[in-house]
Amino acid sequence: MTPVIALVGRPNVGKSTLFNRLTRSRDALVADFPGLTRDRKYGNGQLGDKVYTVIDTGGISGDEQGIDAAMAEQSLTAIDEADIVLFMVDGRAGVMPADQAIANHLRVNQKKTWLVVNKTDGLDELTATADFFSLGLGEPHPIAAAHGRNVTALIDEVLSPF
Ligand code: GDP
Ligand code: MG
Repeated sequence: MTPVIALVGRPNVGKSTLFNRLTRSRDALVADFPGLTRDRKYGNGQLGDKVYTVIDTGGISGDEQGIDAAMAEQSLTAIDEADIVLFMVDGRAGVMPADQAIANHLRVNQKKTWLVVNKTDGLDELTATADFFSLGLGEPHPIAAAHGRNVTALIDEVLSPF
């Protein structure tokens, strides 16, 4: 069985950047503005002898309130399809209301969820992650998707049960 990893989170936190790094493809468009990726995108990646599938999602609007409104349907579908959820937040933005709404959904979901704090390049990892303990999803994992910081170590850990 190939494990499936879903990337979820607000627009602009770096999901497509991580997708590209994990799949080494150019299929997922990365842009400087949020909300460009409208549909789910699938890619395959490999770490050592382990093959995995990654799902990129367009993100969940930060402007909406409430779980049903805040969770885009495609993100809910991606979570259903996944074995592992990487919930990405922006270490530079800090905790946003939409992060809290998504976290509330993921806490009651049965899927194994990893809280991933992106954009920690140039930041102290402890300082950048400290606020995100408040999301109630356990230890935040600092990465920099654009630069590869901690990405291989994270995926190695995430895939260890598979
Ligand atoms: P998405 O909307 O969640 O898919 O986010 P994108 O992958 O499109 O990235 C949004 C913006 O954040 C782009 O300008 C990226 O270059 C930038 N970005 C992504 N990862 C990092 C990172 O690790 N560090 C920094 N500083 N910027 C990043
Ligand atoms: Mg994207």
